[in-house]
Amino acid sequence: MEFALSGNLSNTCFLNSISRRVVKQRKTRMLYSSANFNVPPLFAHSNPPKERTLAVFGSEVFVWPSPADEIPFWKNTFPSRDASIQVPTDIEKDSNPIHIIHVTAEMAPIAKVGGLGDVVTGLARACLSRGHAVDVMLPFYACIEKQQINDLALITEYNTFYDGNWVPTNAYRGVVSGIPVIFIEPSNEFFKGQFVYGGSYNELEAYLFFSRACLEWMQVAGVQPDIIHVHEWQTGALPLLYWDMYQNLSLKKPRVVLTIHNMEHYGECTKDQLSKCGLDGSIYASMDKAIDDRTIGHNPERLSLLKGGIVYSNAVVTVSPTYLKETLCSGWLASTLLRNREKYFGILNGIDTVIWDPATDVFLPANFHAQKPEGKKICKYYVQRGLGLVSEGTLAGDPVPYITDNVPLIVCITRLVAQKGLHLITQAIKRTEELGGQMIVLGKASDGRVQREFEDLANSHNQGSSIRILLMYSEELSHMLYAAADMVLVPSIYEPCGLAQMIGMRYGAVPVVRKTGGLADTVFDMDDSSNREMANGFVFEGIDEGSLNCALGPCI
Ligand code: ADP
Repeated sequence: MEFALSGNLSNTCFLNSISRRVVKQRKTRMLYSSANFNVPPLFAHSNPPKERTLAVFGSEVFVWPSPADEIPFWKNTFPSRDASIQVPTDIEKDSNPIHIIHVTAEMAPIAKVGGLGDVVTGLARACLSRGHAVDVMLPFYACIEKQQINDLALITEYNTFYDGNWVPTNAYRGVVSGIPVIFIEPSNEFFKGQFVYGGSYNELEAYLFFSRACLEWMQVAGVQPDIIHVHEWQTGALPLLYWDMYQNLSLKKPRVVLTIHNMEHYGECTKDQLSKCGLDGSIYASMDKAIDDRTIGHNPERLSLLKGGIVYSNAVVTVSPTYLKETLCSGWLASTLLRNREKYFGILNGIDTVIWDPATDVFLPANFHAQKPEGKKICKYYVQRGLGLVSEGTLAGDPVPYITDNVPLIVCITRLVAQKGLHLITQAIKRTEELGGQMIVLGKASDGRVQREFEDLANSHNQGSSIRILLMYSEELSHMLYAAADMVLVPSIYEPCGLAQMIGMRYGAVPVVRKTGGLADTVFDMDDSSNREMANGFVFEGIDEGSLNCALGPCI
């Protein structure tokens, strides 16, 4: 089972030769020049084109973007990405192929909010490439763009039990990034709305419905995988439903694996809510089952879907060895995890190196790789121009501007939530400006107060020449920013694994991270003389501003 989980992703500390080279060249920090790439042919005249028209990707016509463009450069029309990311076929196959069904609330790129979506897609593709049969089951969110799904077809019309009724439900099959996906579409209000999360329906009840609907579909369709792989609290009720209901019906073969990507959310639920999916909620209100320990003696007591999932799954995985240790030492679920220690594993996440590949990435204005790094400089200049960051200078007596590549560019691409070290991101903006660098934050806040705080920051910085704070979600722009970056900042207070640092390294950017969870397992400090072999970035430990300052530049 473990191999299926680690799959081809075990090269997690993957550090391509681009980033090794960049790290070596840039042992110096913000105060030093980042200009280490050769001047690409495009810049041979040191004289960037003055006119603008829309950039045309994949063609010979190349045009620089500008902040004045009617359509921002990250909203250009790009070639279809799916065509270039088929599952690799040249990987050695495992000798014992099995059938795995992932049941998940997110899947990249069609329903991605954070790393969960990336990891489900990457893991499924890794297992497919090793010869296993893999399906993903996903709610058919109304916000999913159907043109991103290949071969979409209705395969089953069936009914799913919910709150005393049988709800007509459709199952569709399609292919996304080379992975067969089964989309579950209820006829009620669940999963309607503009976004993956935050619709005007009860989210917890929608995922309870979804968990049962997936098992019901397997039963109706006569599908019995070897492994049902559930993710996060959203699908935490599925192991309960499987062992206490569907095992007594016709599903016998599957074993259930739960991956915990982040223990922040526990899936807090009342007994009545759990009962709506057909289980007797009161049966699960005990220490050894699904009660939320913190609510014992309260009126009412609460259940935790995540805890239930831990207890009822055959194996539980979290996304890095260090986060495993951290979760065994702190938080109210530690005692449950300790009781289930023998089936609890910490397996480091990885990134899909085909999806995240600067040599083929369709969102980049120029591709690059370790042996041909020139395109990275074009990506940086492209982003700088498109966002109106200063990227040109003039030599005395010469009216023609030339490109100044000696300003380090740091990017931070993140959900804007407390976990991600919001005060450290704010401090990094301030410090970068003081040091004469440039910084771009691409982030989305779900909390109104955080949103306002960052809007204020954006208002006070975005007119200047060195800082851009972009409050939105954009997959396309995120690819361009990783490609443009000299450094990627991940200052998380805690981080189960973190993908941004790995993607950054894949795109030739040096990670600057706080030493916690998976960041501690993937980034090793340049100044750690005991571990020179592994050194690949800059690591700081404290959660105070001084610690961050010391990682970004000279300690003050
Ligand atoms: P988490 O899962 O906690 O959000 P990870 O580092 O594991 O953090 O994964 C985050 C993923 O989401 C990365 O692929 C990152 O590039 C992406 N991401 C985060 N915020 C944004 C955003 N505003 N726009 C585009 N991509 C984003």
